[in-house]
Amino acid sequence: MILIVDDKPENIFSLKKILELNNFRVDTANSGEEALKKILKNAYALIILDVQMPGMDGFEVAEAISGYSKAKDIPIIFLSAINTDKRFVTKGYASGGLDYVTKPVDPDILLLKVKTFYRLYEQTMELTQIQDTLREEIEFRKEAEKKKDEFISIASHELKTPLTSIKAYLQLSERSIHDGNSGTTRQYLQRTMVQLDKLNNLIADLLDISKIESGKLKFNKKHFDFEPLLNSAIDIIRQTHDGVRIILTGKANVQVFGDEVRIEQVLINYLTNAFKYSPGTKEVYVDVSTSPDNQLVVKVKDNGIGIPAEKQAGIFDKFYRVEETSHRFQGMGIGLYICAEILRRHNGTYQVESEEGKGSTFSFTLPISGVL
Ligand code: ADP
Repeated sequence: MILIVDDKPENIFSLKKILELNNFRVDTANSGEEALKKILKNAYALIILDVQMPGMDGFEVAEAISGYSKAKDIPIIFLSAINTDKRFVTKGYASGGLDYVTKPVDPDILLLKVKTFYRLYEQTMELTQIQDTLREEIEFRKEAEKKKDEFISIASHELKTPLTSIKAYLQLSERSIHDGNSGTTRQYLQRTMVQLDKLNNLIADLLDISKIESGKLKFNKKHFDFEPLLNSAIDIIRQTHDGVRIILTGKANVQVFGDEVRIEQVLINYLTNAFKYSPGTKEVYVDVSTSPDNQLVVKVKDNGIGIPAEKQAGIFDKFYRVEETSHRFQGMGIGLYICAEILRRHNGTYQVESEEGKGSTFSFTLPISGVL
């Protein structure tokens, strides 16, 4: 928008007409004071400023504008009859573009100048926008790079932990073989197997992340019965977690169209987290149901440490770990991100409800493909 400032309404009228006929949007002010008020409130691409006005004259308006950070770059075309002191103006108004048109105004010359300034204004706006986008992009990449670096250090540490245990158990096994104690050897080898499984799971998660990144996470989808899959996941957790109770409520005799192995992975992840983040408690509750809009609803509830309200939104993001507890629990912050990706790719949804210190309920939904 262009602002015309002139104390004579007839001048404003004719200038406004010329500009509007050339498709410029125009605003007007009858005095320097009114112009300043408008400049503070609105964004203008150009100001056409009469020099000789009663009260504040054009030069004084320009000088005042030069002090507004928001407006100091708006170009000005002065309309002057006489007495144009260029040096004075340029001193007060150095950063914006300046030009003069002498009165009586030649419409063609004025239009030519307006068009040039307007083009410059548009180019500047475009450049500023590109600059802002680039700045955001740089910030985003820096942040991603930082997270990746942190992740590499966490992942290396996570991989090293079971590896160190495996080495220790193998050394102990070797010693007990040497002592001829086959019972103890078997125990050490069993512990080695547990650590190997951990290592295997960690590497599988890392591979999943790289598959998600490269768009290569593939699904082998077919119709399957959900309840047997849920029971199998619960059994796996019972076998791998000593003395735990998983209390199952609800019914969902339904079929789902999806990749059984991947949906089981989601269940196991939710259940593993429920026990992992509930030190001292041995009970986790699973509830299954169906909703009127044909969705299977699965909820996994624990009475564990919970998640602070402000941290819940990021919980399914890549590499996200709740800072306050990250030093107490090992983890890479990728399990829930993989779950979210699996559920998204099955047209499912995922949610968390949690209260710090009281526990969490992680749930997900999946479209039902058939009722048994
Ligand atoms: P990891 O457990 O390896 O850190 P996840 O992606 O599975 O990674 O979980 C991300 C973060 O979410 C965890 O670091 C933890 O802070 C939080 N979290 C996940 N499940 C629970 C839960 N049941 N209770 C409390 N916090 C949880």
